[in-house]
Amino acid sequence: MGVQDFAKLVRNVPDFPKPGIQFKDITPLLQHGPGLRAAIDDMVAATADLDWQVAVGIESRGFLFAAALAYATGRGVALVRKPGKLPADKVRLEYALEYGSDAIEIHADAVAPGQRVLIVDDVLATGGTARAASDLVTGIGGRVAGYVFLAELGFLNGRARLADATVRSLLVW
Ligand code: AMP
Repeated sequence: MGVQDFAKLVRNVPDFPKPGIQFKDITPLLQHGPGLRAAIDDMVAATADLDWQVAVGIESRGFLFAAALAYATGRGVALVRKPGKLPADKVRLEYALEYGSDAIEIHADAVAPGQRVLIVDDVLATGGTARAASDLVTGIGGRVAGYVFLAELGFLNGRARLADATVRSLLVW
């Protein structure tokens, strides 16, 4: 199954969560065994040349792809979570979203000093979330080796905010 096939498994939901936003719903892809496998395999291939040691997944859909990438390549996964979820010593950052604003947190010891991180999420929109995740990682001493997304909303030019490292996405809309 190629990129064009699993692209068809992403559902467009108009006006969610707010009027004017076209939401890219990946749940049909997640439910489809061959589609999910193809997406993970393609993400592994798309990042094979990047020198990374730990995948950092962004809550919550980013966790799915970060864990799969980490498992497939024998690496670990660290979590960037919404506020109030992480139990131990943590760092928090506020940031702007395509629809509203939010905050994210990371455990202070999620990444070792100098460790090279691959930041993983399902959709790159404005880039605000990935930018914030990247800043959290560097704030606790990690280094960002790259970013990978299942899909990118190209018209929002989120990758312009991620110019500090290589950005890979399987689909561009
Ligand atoms: P952003 O910070 O604007 O790049 O937004 C990225 C985060 O919000 C990701 O975790 C996405 O899952 C989610 N997101 C933003 N816009 C959309 C969209 N149009 N469709 C699906 N997910 C989106």
